[in-house]
Amino acid sequence: MIYTDKRRQTPLALIVDDDASLRMVMVAALKKFGLDAIEADSGSSGIEVFKSENPDIVLLDVVMPEMDGFEVCKLIRQSPGGTYTQILMVTGLEDTESTKKAFDVGANGFVTKPLSLVMLGYRVQYMLRAGHAFRELDISKRRLAKTQELARIGNWQVDLRSSEFYCSPEALSLLELSSTDNYMVLDAFIRSILDQDKRRVKNALGKALQTKKGTTLEYQIRDIEGSQRYILNKSEIVFDAQAQPILMLGIVQDISPLKKAEKEIRFLAFYDGLTGLANRMLFMDRLDQAIVSAKRNKKYFALLFLDLDNFKQINDTLGHHIGDLLLKKVAESITKSIRRSDSATRLVKEGEPDSLIARLGGDEFTILVTDLKDPEYAALIAERLIKVIPVVYDLAGNDVSITTSIGISVFPTDGNKADTLLKNADTAMYHAKKGGKNTYQFFMDSMNKAALERFSMDRDIKKALQNNEFVLYYQPQVNLSDRKIVGAEALIRWHHPLRGMIPPDKFIPIAEESGIIIEINRWVFLTACQQAKQWFKQGLCPIRMAINLSGYKLASQKIIETIETVLQQTKFAAQNIEIEITENVLMQDTKATVSTLSKIKDLELKIALDDFGTGYSSLSYLTSFPVDTIKIDRSFVMDCTSKSNNLVIIKAIIAMGHSLGKKIVAEGIETEEQYHLMKDLGCDECQGYYFSRPVPPDEFIKLLTRGSF
Ligand code: C2E
Ligand code: CA
Ligand code: CA
Repeated sequence: MIYTDKRRQTPLALIVDDDASLRMVMVAALKKFGLDAIEADSGSSGIEVFKSENPDIVLLDVVMPEMDGFEVCKLIRQSPGGTYTQILMVTGLEDTESTKKAFDVGANGFVTKPLSLVMLGYRVQYMLRAGHAFRELDISKRRLAKTQELARIGNWQVDLRSSEFYCSPEALSLLELSSTDNYMVLDAFIRSILDQDKRRVKNALGKALQTKKGTTLEYQIRDIEGSQRYILNKSEIVFDAQAQPILMLGIVQDISPLKKAEKEIRFLAFYDGLTGLANRMLFMDRLDQAIVSAKRNKKYFALLFLDLDNFKQINDTLGHHIGDLLLKKVAESITKSIRRSDSATRLVKEGEPDSLIARLGGDEFTILVTDLKDPEYAALIAERLIKVIPVVYDLAGNDVSITTSIGISVFPTDGNKADTLLKNADTAMYHAKKGGKNTYQFFMDSMNKAALERFSMDRDIKKALQNNEFVLYYQPQVNLSDRKIVGAEALIRWHHPLRGMIPPDKFIPIAEESGIIIEINRWVFLTACQQAKQWFKQGLCPIRMAINLSGYKLASQKIIETIETVLQQTKFAAQNIEIEITENVLMQDTKATVSTLSKIKDLELKIALDDFGTGYSSLSYLTSFPVDTIKIDRSFVMDCTSKSNNLVIIKAIIAMGHSLGKKIVAEGIETEEQYHLMKDLGCDECQGYYFSRPVPPDEFIKLLTRGSF
């Protein structure tokens, strides 16, 4: 307890002595020095008077009948208000034993009889002053300790000369350290700090001690129960009279409640209380950020605007409570659907799409999907939502289902400001509602068409495989020196029943994204090998068959199994098969790719690097992967006769390739001039319209029969 004295105007002294004359003399002496004085003639009455009057100083005779001064002193110290009272022992005894005893029982001073009354007056005055100062100091120390305890503040200090660390009990308890740690070293001081913060705090404190400068640190510790608390640790340097740093004084404070409040405030400000999703404010903020980042990186992103169909009706008939539950469930469905990692994540570049889901208010939700590979792919996300949201939710015993209408706006096509994008997505959503609800609409009509085309094509490709709508055309590969046909490149064509012939560039990328490319590759492989085997059986001169393997995740395509099965089925010689891959295949999962390619080589197939010169054209690929052939991309050959730059590149590729022992094939030879140039430059083989376009099998037979050009 903090003891505060009701201060008197005049200090009061209590004189306890069994000698009446001595008391009288002392009273007179003290009065001269401006004190009031009261008397007691025995130890027990002295204690009583002390309790009732609470004097500022007690002059206490040591030798008294019944109870001696030592006993009285002890009892006064123990009684209420006895802590700060100055006690002066008065005795005739002058031996060290009783002096020691007097201090042991709590006396502040000692005088011996006979008394010099003037000296006694000064002595008493001095003691009162010292006592007052002591009391003030002690009270303020206690007050500080109490305040610190209440504020959950502890203090610590380091003696900068001896490096001795001291921690107050409150600091120890705050930092989850034991009381034996009162004196400690830096490591003990930071023991309870979470690993993530430890190094930072240790470095900062170490540096502060070294440079003798104060610091302010915030970090987390784990308490005994395992929960985490936030600590603020502030320190300052204390200098001595010579301005030398002597101490580092610090306080530690538990700021967890502050942090919690901060978090709550932030949550209230940026999140929707019902669903826990972002609110409009946060969404608009992120939308602004997305615009800045997309502008900088020249990227697309899409904004999906969802509005539940007939929500008002449910709310009105089943009540707000059910309405709220439904909104929560829908929010969960949206979150799950957006975060789910399946085929749709392939639509965005690497890993998961960067998305933010928000509830704008009422039954309106928005989703920001950044880093889209193609803007139309936002439609896939919308399709998925339209599929998952209408599940039947059990809401407090009611089976409720709801559909949603989605509008999509795309940056930058549909606006380059947050407001515009939101407004346009809203407009698109309105069209989706008008279009019969439970559907999605892009803001731009052209985008609707593009998305439709993509997705209907995706479905069509699956059907095309079943309906045998694919065919292979073959383009001869010609030896440059003697113009003999040495190989054929199989090139896929799609005879679409309604749309006619669709070139591979139009559907291969879609097939790659949906994963159906695996089946297409298998079909191409089998068909090309069967075809080659058949020509061989027909007695046509044996040729090499080049087959394009699409790049998408080559390693995970079970390509080895496919090759083995086809080889077994067709009995076509593996040495006569050349796989064409592009550089981006090599750039994917290198380790798995090397292993796949090595297995292909083990099966004795050949490998060609297609479209060389358009990608990274890295020499390291040629040395670290088992490649037999380099196919110089058509674009270099095309204007090699007019662009000297192209010529330099072709020369470099040929020199490099030959030095590594690779065969060089020039693609896209269209003129005689190009043919001669490639021949002169030292290419080994070539293909192109100059000799023949890719042709269907029956036409290719004619070329084979001729054997050369
Ligand atoms: P690619 O592998 O570079 O195939 C060569 C392309 O160049 C073929 O186009 C071919 O018709 C064309 N071409 C050949 N000579 C000339 C010429 O002198 N001038 C011009 N302008 N073009 C010439 P195509 O058949 O349209 O194939 C395009 C791409 O589609 C192929 O490029 C290949 O990447 C892919 N592809 C074709 N068939 C398949 C296949 O069966 N499977 C896979 N995964 N991809 C294929
Ligand atoms: Ca090719
Ligand atoms: Ca090519």
